[in-house]
Amino acid sequence: AIHPDDRKGVTRAWIDALEKKSQFFVTGRVWHKNSESYRHFESRGVAIKDSDGNIREWIGTITDIHDKLLVEKEKQLAQEQMEYTYLHDSLTDLPNRILFNQRLLEEINKCDEKKTLLSVMIIDLDRFKMINESLGHAVGDRLLQEVGLRLASCLDETDVLARLGGDEFGILLTDIEREEEVASVCQRILDSLKHPFSVDKNELYMTPSVGITVFPFDGDDSSTLLKNADSALYRAKEQGRNNFQFYNPSMNATSFQQLTLESALRRALKNNEFLVYYQPQIDPITGHIVELEALLRWMHPDLGLTFPDEFIKSAETTGLIESIGEWVLRTALKDVSEWHAMGFDDLDIAVNLSARQFKQRHLVRAIRKVINEIKFDASHLELELTESVLVDNSTTVFNTLNELKKDGIRFAIDDFNTGYSSLNYIKRFPIDILKIDKSFVRGLPGKEKDAAIANSIINLAHSLNMKVVAEGVERVEQLNFLRDRGCDKVQGYFISPPVSSQAITELLRKNK
Ligand code: C2E
Ligand code: MG
Ligand code: MG
Repeated sequence: AIHPDDRKGVTRAWIDALEKKSQFFVTGRVWHKNSESYRHFESRGVAIKDSDGNIREWIGTITDIHDKLLVEKEKQLAQEQMEYTYLHDSLTDLPNRILFNQRLLEEINKCDEKKTLLSVMIIDLDRFKMINESLGHAVGDRLLQEVGLRLASCLDETDVLARLGGDEFGILLTDIEREEEVASVCQRILDSLKHPFSVDKNELYMTPSVGITVFPFDGDDSSTLLKNADSALYRAKEQGRNNFQFYNPSMNATSFQQLTLESALRRALKNNEFLVYYQPQIDPITGHIVELEALLRWMHPDLGLTFPDEFIKSAETTGLIESIGEWVLRTALKDVSEWHAMGFDDLDIAVNLSARQFKQRHLVRAIRKVINEIKFDASHLELELTESVLVDNSTTVFNTLNELKKDGIRFAIDDFNTGYSSLNYIKRFPIDILKIDKSFVRGLPGKEKDAAIANSIINLAHSLNMKVVAEGVERVEQLNFLRDRGCDKVQGYFISPPVSSQAITELLRKNK
């Protein structure tokens, strides 16, 4: 009469009890003749032994617990249902704000462990109120459901999509390594909502405004991330509709320009619109070109050759500088390898790194990858950083520099003395070169103060075993002054402006 699936368990319990001569407890299902169904039972009993310790008989009970079990199951289901309702939005069936916040906390913890990034997006539908008011709430509700489905189709399974209330949705993008991935999901979202929604014979167009924050850059706890995403959203709304806005505390270019510039930069990377120009550095005594500085240029399809001052800031705030920087490094190392192969095998190359790149989690790995790919001798590579890199986040930077140092890479401080670094920083970090900024070179040799500053930078550097490069040398008197003070290398329009790689090949040949 025992249910076939329970027979093994019940038999086992009986044999156990017999062997141990003790009590037993067993549950299972047994055939019930009257109702012609299996019912749950529970059986327990004890062994009664004689004076020799042998089992004489068993005393016990078999109880029908079927109804009791059903009641408990129902209770549990009701409980689960209640929890589900508490954490989900009834209209779209998506997680609600409470669950969204819970998941955000969980994901932040995971990111800390896995060292990945996390992005919080808040999406607000433009002019949704108007639809609600003009076509009625039923249409509005259907539209929200459809929007929910489209948003979900842009995401991975591990991401979180929630309806935060009204016409506001929230997204957590998990497991990201670069901020650009966030932008590309955003683009996907904008694209997916472009097509009209058909609700009750209405063709409705819906555009979103999106505010974005990225952990850990824009906040390291959930409330800061949400608050900042909200203010980014506010800015997105201000900028007109249908756009996304990364949170950025110090953004002063108007966001709209920022957005168009940003998508143009993205396109530039894809369409190979960037170029690397090179500016020679010479030894002021021999006049030989000993090094080149790689300087980024953008051949804009409408605007022509565009200089970094116009777009580097934007590339930094959007995180695109990581990919662009990697591209510059790869291009420069490839070009220099060719010059090495032509017999200019002592040539060194300086590449600029922006402060933002030091926040990249895998900077060391990314640089090594490029070097290995090209089989470049890293002792010919010099990376230029600004003082601000040393000032903030100094332990990470310290480790990064020391790690790269092992490969033979050298480091130069660009625009030295224009920032706010103290000598302490310079001493603490493995710096090889100071680059005197052009603002101090300009007044040479006439302006006493500039001359004194240039002179003391040269002395300081030499006493710390560093080399000195002077930037922005435009006149022969400046060159002479610097040479006489022992400046190791000079760079500037007097020698050559930054020029294309073809022009550099010519220059190198002549220079020989
Ligand atoms: P920087 O690294 O200090 O580069 C030197 C700048 O001074 C260059 O401007 C160069 O054209 C200019 N210059 C050179 N000689 C003279 C001269 O004799 N007189 C004057 N007045 N100027 C001279 P450019 O190429 O416009 O670059 C501006 C800045 O953009 C660079 O300053 C650097 O901070 C940044 N940058 C350029 N390329 C890259 C890059 O690939 N990555 C990053 N992160 N930043 C870059
Ligand atoms: Mg530089
Ligand atoms: Mg400079």
